[in-house]
Amino acid sequence: MKIILNERKYIEDALKSSDVNKNNSKNLALLIKYYYLQGKDKGEVRQSVEQYMIKHYPKYNPILWDSHITKLVDAGKRVKKRKNGDTIKKELVEIDEICITKAEINKIKALRKLPLKKLAFGLLVYSKIHNQLGKNNTYWVNSELKDILSDCKIAADRKKQRLMIHELINLGYLTSSNRVNETKTKVNFANEDSDVVLVVRDFDYFIYDYLKLLGQRVKICKTNTCDQRFIAKENGSLYCNKCKNRRNKDYIDKNSDKNK
Ligand SMILES: [Zn+2]
Repeated sequence: MKIILNERKYIEDALKSSDVNKNNSKNLALLIKYYYLQGKDKGEVRQSVEQYMIKHYPKYNPILWDSHITKLVDAGKRVKKRKNGDTIKKELVEIDEICITKAEINKIKALRKLPLKKLAFGLLVYSKIHNQLGKNNTYWVNSELKDILSDCKIAADRKKQRLMIHELINLGYLTSSNRVNETKTKVNFANEDSDVVLVVRDFDYFIYDYLKLLGQRVKICKTNTCDQRFIAKENGSLYCNKCKNRRNKDYIDKNSDKNK
């Protein structure tokens, strides 16, 4: 999932890691928010950011970065207000789990095809994340459809994607914003007044929580460097498709070498 669900963990990992993250503007804005929330003043934030840059970006050039950092440090200090004039409290996003209820699962179950069920489940998860991010209960999904489809492991061309969304709209599961250039959709089948049957904590693999609920055999790939989830067609399956194919190819290569 592309959304950073736990900003504190994300920043603390970034501070510890020696890995240079490509997404550095987003990183820096978050880092600045983190430092301000620690009670640092503008000068101290600036100093900490510079230290971070020296440590994490080998090619860091203070002169080239000066105005960009100044802009971010100033922006981080600015107080943001809602339309009604209320101040938006600055805090780090820390979403650890999303609860799915029985009533919601039953609504999804009523859909006829698996890809549609997976998409409805994915949109529901995303809508609950956006509720937490926006501190509201509106169930609007404000993410790119392609990211949601990828998280849901749905392979569909654009035409099929549109058809699926339309089907969910026609069935009343979704409302779409009719504004031009907007891809926002609202989930209409959320129902918190029902027993929780599933708690999603692993947001990279949430679709497998749903597939497990459907009775599918979900396994974690046994290759050391891979933690991919996969649906085991047979009981003894140990590896995800990608690793299985690589292992098969390695085996064939090894044996053809022997035969030379
Ligand atoms: Zn694997």
